[in-house]
Amino acid sequence: MSQALADIRVRIADAEARADRPTGAVTLVAVSKTQPWEHIAPVLDAGQKVFGENRVQEAMERWGDRREGLELRLIGPLQTNKARDAVAFFDVIETVDREKLARVLAEEIQRAGKAPRLYVQVNTGEEDQKAGIAPSEADAFIAACRTTYGLTVEGLMCIPPFDQDPAPHFALLKAIALANGVEKLSMGMSDDFEIAIEQGATSVRVGSAIFGRRDYA
Ligand SMILES: *Cc1c(COP(=O)(O)O)cnc(C)c1O
Repeated sequence: MSQALADIRVRIADAEARADRPTGAVTLVAVSKTQPWEHIAPVLDAGQKVFGENRVQEAMERWGDRREGLELRLIGPLQTNKARDAVAFFDVIETVDREKLARVLAEEIQRAGKAPRLYVQVNTGEEDQKAGIAPSEADAFIAACRTTYGLTVEGLMCIPPFDQDPAPHFALLKAIALANGVEKLSMGMSDDFEIAIEQGATSVRVGSAIFGRRDYA
């Protein structure tokens, strides 16, 4: 696992160089969801500090007593009844995608007196089964997050359809970010993170290429 991590770091640095971007411009989010601890421990020992998780409960169980010095990001869909736990636990929530969730997050942030950094998820492929705001509604939703709910939108996130060229999806996400003055772009996974870096990703979410295939059994 730590060799795989080293390989990914080299590939990220190469992609940064090819795109004329500074070394270290891109944050590697190691996606540890469903992985057994023996796959994660060597990656932690190798100095990886930023991890992505899909589920609030699973993340709290895995990281609850080990999160010192780490940055934990929620990259899976968030139900409003888990918003309180998510605000308390995560440093970054990447999956803000509807008004009800924005409202509940705003309430929980107020109550907790602390705010995770927030990304809006955009469903660039307009897939029915996928979370995220539709591209045509993104401008209005980002504006509502800011004005109606007082949230700071740090970035945008997308997951392109698995059977399409991801590059146009990454370009669309970047265009929406530029149009709305949003700085960060979470895009690119194990199979396409180099393309995402060329398109301007500021963080990539890499799971299986570091930890091996996930076992959902
Ligand atoms: C699982 C997951 C990843 C990591 O996928 P890999 O293909 O294993 O790199 C990235 N982003 C999200 C939102 C995920 O759910």
